[in-house]
Amino acid sequence: MIDSFSVFWATPPADITATLCWSVIGLMIGSFLNVAIYRIPIMMQRESENYLALENDQPPPHTERYNLITPRSACNSCAHKLSLADNIPLLSFALLKARCRYCKARISWRYPSVELLTAVLSALVIWHLGSGIAGISGLILLWMLIAMSFIDLDTQLLPDELTLPLMWLGLLINLDGTFVPLRDAVIGAAAGYIFLWLVYWMFFAATGKEGIGYGDFKLLAALGAWMGWMMLPLIVLLSSVVGATVGLLMIALKRHHRDSPIPFGPFLATAGLLALLIGQPIINSWLAPY
Ligand SMILES: [Zn+2]
Repeated sequence: MIDSFSVFWATPPADITATLCWSVIGLMIGSFLNVAIYRIPIMMQRESENYLALENDQPPPHTERYNLITPRSACNSCAHKLSLADNIPLLSFALLKARCRYCKARISWRYPSVELLTAVLSALVIWHLGSGIAGISGLILLWMLIAMSFIDLDTQLLPDELTLPLMWLGLLINLDGTFVPLRDAVIGAAAGYIFLWLVYWMFFAATGKEGIGYGDFKLLAALGAWMGWMMLPLIVLLSSVVGATVGLLMIALKRHHRDSPIPFGPFLATAGLLALLIGQPIINSWLAPY
């Protein structure tokens, strides 16, 4: 049995300065992720409504520009545009005491939480992987996983616009074997997709219900592309354990109805992050006796 904490803290060499720098940058990225999590589902909705209108020879209902940058962030209640001072990660939330400066509506705890989470996890990634190509690409993986997890929580969807580029990026990062040899990455992408696809159909055949979604297959394919097929059993195992624990806990606390679906994306993402940070030592310890 592996002592994951000793693995965790013993990983040399930790670059303290880079870790601190990236935690601050992580705060700002977290602030941007809040925007992305909120806007990407709306952008997709608008796009599909415009497409439908065009198909029916109607004028598109959404013509104003709406993307991750335009329009500027505004209060959800009073629509007042936010100034730079309203947008400082964590600090604005604390100084404004969780209320809008203009209309005093409550600001969700979600925003500072995502900022803090992104900062802490960014620091962990750099601590573990250093500030070279592995660390920086690890950050991109982390940030995309955070965005996808919250979008999945909000909408029960993992957009192709995020899962597919993440998979391609994983293959490209491994062209020079940054994390695993390219061969393992390609097999990982295919095996990740096929594995959950099989689980989906077996579950469907047994229960007549959809347990997981197509987005989950693509996310596991992406994780396979980043970390290779050898990491897939660990990722599936970790995500099931975390998923089952959280699911049972929520049912026990009556926070969730047994039959309504729990998004699987956040568990896959959590397992993927754990695999990135401490997967190799765990697998080495499994294989060590043989
Ligand atoms: Zn307001």
